[in-house]
Amino acid sequence: MFEGLKTKLDSIFNIRLNRNQICDIERLFFEIMRRENVSENVIIEYIKTNSHYEKCAGKDRFFAIKNALILRRFPRTYQNEKIDTKKIFLNQVNGPLDNDWKGNKDFNPLEIFVEKEVKSSYLVENFKKHFPAVPITEVNLYNEYLKNNRFKIADLKKPVVFIIKEKWDFLKPCPCTKEHISCGYWILNLGFGCPFDCSYCFLQCYANFPGIVLPANIEDFFIEFEALYKKLKNPIRIGTGEFCDSLALDNITEYSKQLIPYLSNKNVLFELKTKSNNIGNLLKINPSKNIVISWSLNPASIVESEELLTATLQERLEAAKIIQGKGYSIAFHFDPIIHSDNWKHLYGEVIDKLYQEAKIPFSWISLGSLRSHRSLKAINEFRFPQSNIFYGELFFGEDKKLRYPEYLRKEIYSYMIKRLRRYDSKTPIYLCMENKNLWTILGKDSGKEVESSLLERSVNNV
Ligand code: SF4
Repeated sequence: MFEGLKTKLDSIFNIRLNRNQICDIERLFFEIMRRENVSENVIIEYIKTNSHYEKCAGKDRFFAIKNALILRRFPRTYQNEKIDTKKIFLNQVNGPLDNDWKGNKDFNPLEIFVEKEVKSSYLVENFKKHFPAVPITEVNLYNEYLKNNRFKIADLKKPVVFIIKEKWDFLKPCPCTKEHISCGYWILNLGFGCPFDCSYCFLQCYANFPGIVLPANIEDFFIEFEALYKKLKNPIRIGTGEFCDSLALDNITEYSKQLIPYLSNKNVLFELKTKSNNIGNLLKINPSKNIVISWSLNPASIVESEELLTATLQERLEAAKIIQGKGYSIAFHFDPIIHSDNWKHLYGEVIDKLYQEAKIPFSWISLGSLRSHRSLKAINEFRFPQSNIFYGELFFGEDKKLRYPEYLRKEIYSYMIKRLRRYDSKTPIYLCMENKNLWTILGKDSGKEVESSLLERSVNNV
């Protein structure tokens, strides 16, 4: 990609770069060019006037050039604090994949694999009914099948469905992330994989685990849940949207039709989290206030460029309005919030729109900023050449994930909270995967405090 850059730098700056050094410099050139839409020559001129390279020799000359590039690559952080260069992730520049599988807004599986134990389940019948022409293959165990059939990153979004018998792990506490405050959430595992294609989706890091895995034995969840429920002293919040979108395929899986009537009379808050407007089944079920249907929200332009195949912002808000009118509780997640030059304007508009469509109070609003494992940055570059999200001011955080630095996250959350509170003083707001320092913006600094305030406020709101 940058053929000739090494030669150019050699001749202009009289410097011999080794393989690792050229990798760092190429990455910095590449990201500055993407961020600022400038040419290589503009950056070379910048180095000439800003690095003082001529005063250094050997390795020091390389560091003088690299440091000048870092300051230009991270201008906000440079203005706010001393940049810790160990927290910068400079990976090799990747070109886009030319054979990446691109999905369709109308979900249409290519092939369906069914574990023998569940071949007569309602879920297999539903898939046959919706997709009569799609071949169905029986397998003993889907993970045996995956072991023998290697998938590549380009296959990640191939619409292959595995209908399985879930044997363990239907229900578990949300692991949150190291060094951060947990909000006491429980995850109901309703499968793995998603027909949508968000450029920041962490599921892409499981490249050996493609397709969509759906459990056919929901009745076993009820058994597991009963055992937990007997031991519970206080209500808990449970949700299904961790490894999938809770409603994207609900017209086929009909999970909502089984889960909502069962959980409606339990002392829990049960959340179905989505980026879809697939609410047909919900409208046929008796609603209950402890059932919370929630939507992830982002500005329309980010939905269009980063949340491919999902419902538009307007469609999500309209669906929320209908669902609230029907008598369910609703909630919203601004997660991931993506920083850009005009982020305040973009998110401010979403907040204004939200309060035009839906009535307060909501069960909760969560805020989370872009964060990811480092491997996702390369996958994003392979699969989403149009995406710029990893060229924001991201550094390694305490949990080793790429995140915005704390001063910037603080600015983001403070603005969002202030803007939300203009309309709404009642809905509880919480931060997703954030540290103690940032939780203090909301006046909370321990997991228990967070969880009980959320439950207390949410239960009172319903
Ligand atoms: S909706 Fe959620 S699970 Fe689906 S692709 Fe987007 S981030 Fe991933």
